[in-house]
Amino acid sequence: MATTIAALAGEVLAQAAIAQQRRRIAAQARTIADYDALEEQRRSLFDRASATASIGIWQCNLADNSLSWTNGVYDLFEIARDTPITRETTMALYSESSRREMEAARAQAIATCSDFSLDCEIITTTGKRRWMRLTGAVESRDGVAHRIFGMKQDITEEKLLADRTRYLAEFDVMTGLANRGQFQARLAALDEGRKRIGTMLLVDLDGFKQVNDTYGHALGDECLKEAAIRLLESCGGADLVARIGGDEFAVLLDADMSPGDARILAGNIVEAMRRPVTRLDQTLHLGASVGVAHYRAGISAEDLFRQADTALYAAKAAGRDTSRTFAA
Ligand code: GH3
Ligand code: MG
Repeated sequence: MATTIAALAGEVLAQAAIAQQRRRIAAQARTIADYDALEEQRRSLFDRASATASIGIWQCNLADNSLSWTNGVYDLFEIARDTPITRETTMALYSESSRREMEAARAQAIATCSDFSLDCEIITTTGKRRWMRLTGAVESRDGVAHRIFGMKQDITEEKLLADRTRYLAEFDVMTGLANRGQFQARLAALDEGRKRIGTMLLVDLDGFKQVNDTYGHALGDECLKEAAIRLLESCGGADLVARIGGDEFAVLLDADMSPGDARILAGNIVEAMRRPVTRLDQTLHLGASVGVAHYRAGISAEDLFRQADTALYAAKAAGRDTSRTFAA
């Protein structure tokens, strides 16, 4: 009897141990399943988040230059996912200057086991130009770089917006010339000794109100665009050609240009503006007056502007369609 009880107790204990083992296995299986599910969830969350942010992760093994990418990088270059990739084929998709910049930054990071970040222009396999923010970090062993990895993000829209914003801040949208802001920045640079100027020319169209009144504002705008083109053509070597007001333009000439050449240039501008303009099926006559002032050491940018303006006023007073130079 005692043996039977002992055997039963042993049996019960064994059963209990087995049940406990089973529970453990089941619990572990659940943990593994949960873990796999969590991993899968994480991966899909990462894929979705990186696709939304147009981000991809890359890495390069420096021993053999082998690359591996997440889907985001394939999508960025418009290469079919999981296509075998090499450094050479990838580098061929960078614009020439970006390739040079990127190689220099990468080489520097490898040499110093440090990080790098730069914006690169790429041309995708279907020929689209894109801007990509590239970041990289070098991993080293015993002070020797062995792996480089990082992120690539499509920043085309951000870059275009930034370029557009900069353009609007510095250029006149109608004519494409520099705007008043850029002109003033150049004058400030003169005052601060960061820039030299030889001569300032102020150009104002003659009787332009009448052009608007007779032909309408739309044709008036066309005349302003044509005037800008002619001004640029006349002032090939100018430092700056700007539209600084309604029908008023300014030209800054380099300090190397002699006063005599500057006066000849002013005469060329007057002649160029005198030629008939044909736009929107209409032919009309424009004309412009030009005021010239030469920079002399010790005067401020404001003085120079005032002197050019005085000369312009003198050209208008002399009957327009001519130029005058400020006499100190
Ligand atoms: P002046 O010979 O003395 O220079 O006289 P003006 O008729 O040319 O007149 P003024 O230079 O004093 O004024 C410039 C005129 O240019 C005023 C306005 O009717 C016109 N204007 C200013 N901005 C624009 C623009 O963006 N488009 C058009 N079409 N006309 C403009
Ligand atoms: Mg005018």
